[in-house]
Amino acid sequence: MEIQLNITPLNDWGFQFPTDRPLIISGPCSAETEEQVMDTCVDLAKHGSVNMLRAGIWKPRTRPNCFEGIGSIGLKWIKEAGKATNLPVTVEVANVKHVYEALRMGIDVLWIGARTTVNPFSVQEIADALQGVDIPVMVKNPVNPDLALWMGAFERLNKAGITKLAAIHRGFSSHEKSKYRNRPQWEIPIEFMRQMPNVPVICDPSHICGRRDLLQTVAQKAMDLSFDGLMIESHNNPSKALSDAEQQVTPTAFGVLIDSLVLRNETSTDPVFLHNLEDLREMIDNADRELVALLAKRMKISERIGEYKRNNNIKILQADRWDEIIRQRSEIGIQQGLSAEFMFEWLNAIHKESIRHQGNVMNHD
Ligand code: PEP
Ligand code: MN
Repeated sequence: MEIQLNITPLNDWGFQFPTDRPLIISGPCSAETEEQVMDTCVDLAKHGSVNMLRAGIWKPRTRPNCFEGIGSIGLKWIKEAGKATNLPVTVEVANVKHVYEALRMGIDVLWIGARTTVNPFSVQEIADALQGVDIPVMVKNPVNPDLALWMGAFERLNKAGITKLAAIHRGFSSHEKSKYRNRPQWEIPIEFMRQMPNVPVICDPSHICGRRDLLQTVAQKAMDLSFDGLMIESHNNPSKALSDAEQQVTPTAFGVLIDSLVLRNETSTDPVFLHNLEDLREMIDNADRELVALLAKRMKISERIGEYKRNNNIKILQADRWDEIIRQRSEIGIQQGLSAEFMFEWLNAIHKESIRHQGNVMNHD
């Protein structure tokens, strides 16, 4: 289902945003000193690709006694950096006090952080404070992979009259081990784009990766998936940064990263390309039809097993058998280039459906 919010497109936010390439937001994770903010932002602006400057003023840290942000004084520093570079500036707000202070300082754009989006009370409080204020707001996905919670924040802000809205995908925390700080779970922002098609979506590779060496690949992937922009943290001396030192890049490295991105076309009018693509899509359509037919056939066999178990008074679930199936099928899949994670999820989905079929047979003669 599509939800049509009342959205003002990025190009009508009142800034000079590009129309032919993604929106680029950069700046330090945290404002630390006046010089650090100014030096970093001036150097970033030299690259010419930056459209907005960011800095964290109040930092939501997982544990206390970490650097919790420089506080209100930092608003002045980022605003000055914006004036010096002629760029709009954005800061994170987590409560009403932050909103009022940011508005008072003339901050151009606000963003709501991942730890705030998780809490509907906080989001509502911010939305209420912004009632009647014409300021753009960007909303990061909640820390946990909950699409409805993310979309709910947009509905709350839109109801309060905020139409200049954008989403920021910063990955999701997970108990599973991963090379990422926050797993991208691309299917979630993609589903967001499908359900809220007029909300621009920006990718934040810095918080997804948590380390510099992965940034380029994630940024490129976001471009290939038609994201509307990127937010990348930059610091004039990353190793000395008071927060997120491992993921920040110097303005020079930021420029190299942006220059390396390949911006592919949305589509092509070349008839040969279109013809070949059509052929490949037909192959996919056929493969999908075969897959569905095979799955249906498999479920029919499950039903027969169900009947057989019922007639012999045997329980549906036999854990040993299922462990064996997962192990064996995963091996076959992995040998053929499918990921272990995909095999596991796919097999579990099949198992669930199979149990449903067997249950139907066992409980209704
Ligand atoms: C940040 O952008 O510095 C930040 C705190 O991000 P997140 O809310 O995504 O963790
Ligand atoms: Mn950060």
